[in-house]
Amino acid sequence: MSRIVRWTLPLLALGLVVAYAAARRPAKPVTETRFLMGTLVTVTVSGMPEADARAAASAAFDAMEAVDREMARRPGTPLWELNRSGGGPVGTATREVLGAALAWARRTRGAFDPTVGRLLDLWDIPSGPHPPPPPDEVDAALAHVGWGRVRLGPAGADLGGTEVDLGGIAKGYAIDRAAEALRARGARGFIVNAGGDLYVAGSRGDRPWRIGIQHPRGPQEFLRVVSPMEGALVTSGDYERSYEWQGERIHHILDPRTGYPARGCRSVTVWAPTAVDADALATAAFVLGPEDGLALLERQPGVEGLLVGSDGAVVETPGFSRVAPGVRRR
Ligand code: ADP
Ligand code: MG
Repeated sequence: MSRIVRWTLPLLALGLVVAYAAARRPAKPVTETRFLMGTLVTVTVSGMPEADARAAASAAFDAMEAVDREMARRPGTPLWELNRSGGGPVGTATREVLGAALAWARRTRGAFDPTVGRLLDLWDIPSGPHPPPPPDEVDAALAHVGWGRVRLGPAGADLGGTEVDLGGIAKGYAIDRAAEALRARGARGFIVNAGGDLYVAGSRGDRPWRIGIQHPRGPQEFLRVVSPMEGALVTSGDYERSYEWQGERIHHILDPRTGYPARGCRSVTVWAPTAVDADALATAAFVLGPEDGLALLERQPGVEGLLVGSDGAVVETPGFSRVAPGVRRR
């Protein structure tokens, strides 16, 4: 054997071993971020070859964009048209979400109410800070709120003089559709994170995912870092989409009983098997306040939650630390 062959063969063999080992090592998670549904949405996929992971993430974004195009309350969407006409035909996805919203409205005795559209327009939080609306205008808008007036049948919906807003539930539905799209493309370990509302599946290689639950009064702080079981972890808080006016926090979760921003909580985090349910329940428990909100979450089978009251006190359902065990912070 010539000297060259004597050296080349072992090097070639070594190169093959290294290449094989690299191919066998789980690929690093792939992350894609887009601005969607008024927030930053991140999809992270683990344990797939990069091209497959990117294709799966892209399908997940397509699924969420489809929900947003149909159910956002902005000019031109089918939901906008439905509100403008006071009723009419309803697409399949909107029917599903409006149906779920009305069911949660019934089960929460109207704490969750998708007919708060007029009230939201009156408060117009996104254009704040500005003074709160005068009480007589709040009362006038409240007269157009009432989920019980909506009729949803095979031919479509009659809104009964109300205006529907699906902002408290459609993001959860979109997250579920994204998770479904990821699974359909073979993803098993992933996170869909829409501005802190998430669906978590599988793991990050051989390690569990770690999720920070935001502290409602410390933007850079976590209330807790957890490794949730497969499912949704959704938070409603008074710290986003809000401003201070004469010492009062004006924010986007309205109490349909009073017409004013709900006062009992700073934040509510809900774990549930689906994000659509977690989303509606987080909003409802927030409106009800820590005591009644906790009772609502305890009544729901397979649902757990963590609530921060307006005094900063934290309460949680007995099973919360089982579905979302805390992990040590690094
Ligand atoms: P986020 O959008 O920050 O995740 P939520 O899920 O709690 O927060 O939804 C808040 C949105 O829900 C509001 O922006 C509004 O569109 C709608 N909403 C406000 N109050 C209620 C309510 N009482 N019931 C149902 N939807 C509500
Ligand atoms: Mg919600």
